[in-house]
Amino acid sequence: MNNYFDELYNNINNKNNKGLIDEEIINNDKKYIIGTYGRYNIIPIKGSGIFIEDINKKQYMDFLAGIGVNNVGHCHPEIVNTLKKQGELLIHTSNLYHIYTQTKLAEKLVQLSKFNSKVFFSNSGAEANEAAIKLARKHGKNNNIGEGEIITMENSFHGRTLTTITATAKPKYQEGYEPLPKGFKYVEFNNLEALKENISNKTTAIMLEPVQGEGGINIANKEYLKGVRDLCNDKNIILIFDEVQCGIGRTGKIFAYENYNVIPDIVTLAKALGGGFPIGATIAKEEIAKSFTPGTHGTTFGGNPLGCAVAYTSLRIIENLLDNTTNMGQYFISKLNNLKDKYNFIKEVRGLGLMVGVELTFNGSDIVNKLLEKGYLINCTSDNVLRFLPPLIVEKTHIDSLINELDNIFSEIN
Ligand SMILES: *Cc1c(COP(=O)(O)O)cnc(C)c1O
Repeated sequence: MNNYFDELYNNINNKNNKGLIDEEIINNDKKYIIGTYGRYNIIPIKGSGIFIEDINKKQYMDFLAGIGVNNVGHCHPEIVNTLKKQGELLIHTSNLYHIYTQTKLAEKLVQLSKFNSKVFFSNSGAEANEAAIKLARKHGKNNNIGEGEIITMENSFHGRTLTTITATAKPKYQEGYEPLPKGFKYVEFNNLEALKENISNKTTAIMLEPVQGEGGINIANKEYLKGVRDLCNDKNIILIFDEVQCGIGRTGKIFAYENYNVIPDIVTLAKALGGGFPIGATIAKEEIAKSFTPGTHGTTFGGNPLGCAVAYTSLRIIENLLDNTTNMGQYFISKLNNLKDKYNFIKEVRGLGLMVGVELTFNGSDIVNKLLEKGYLINCTSDNVLRFLPPLIVEKTHIDSLINELDNIFSEIN
């Protein structure tokens, strides 16, 4: 059973001068890794359920779950088992051949999507969105829908490729990367009138997150989303939902749009789809999917046997966690609202299922650091929104202990 990483980790555990090891790893990180992330100084080594253990054997309760990736919890035994079993059977072949687990996963996603759809698999959220944008444009071209223009929302986030940062209506992600791809237009989120005003005969598609994640947990209004759907029907515009963060059970439904009874034309998934293993999916109405034909789009790794097997397992687990997600979400939000009543620097508590944000009147990074010190992982997005994305297996006791710690930290601020 001994492998390279066992030896590496045993070495780490055997040394008792822990501070020095941390320093060595952190220094080597600075030396060898291109610094696109400002990292917290913890070195996670293993995880189980909602818990993560770092190199110094300190335990953390993970209320961020890899930014909405580990929805089934860390190292779920069924996920690990699937990785082992499929890993021994077949890890990769080319998309030039039929891939059994890919077909199985697609069939499951189509059933869950509740519309007549087909799936294209990739490896990440950005790729899933890139495929959605390409497909919408191709279909638009084939059917005289607009001139390829895509309308996206302010405060959105769609990924880090050149096209997806352009879809992401935030200058912070775009600066320095010009020239950007053409054909994107931005409109205020949750504002149907603004959308109507900006639609023209150039418009091919509208793309939005039913619940904005990076933008600060902004939840689409029911009337708004229905209105957007009606507008797209009227004007024959393609409606794309980016459910990379809000999909896969996060809001208490497999797809967030199920909360709204609104069906998109294309929906994208990634983050939690693979239970921690990288995989993305672009699900499109059959009629639209036809516009991708052999050679028009592709990927080497997308839809590989291992990724699809593990995503299939992850979906089966998630299906049984939806009730817990709804119940724990309501419980969590009510507890946070109690804190809001107590502390006037809490502006708003927002959430759907276990996608939860607490808007403060000040930047939240100090709170994140204090929680980290106490053994809780969360993050801060949009400067002043504390973001909570716990695994969907979270229990009341976990929530209670986090709330208790938050209360302590908040009381020192008051
Ligand atoms: C994270 C995220 C993406 C990008 O996914 P990657 O896997 O990082 O490329 C796209 N859209 C939304 C809504 C996301 O939250």
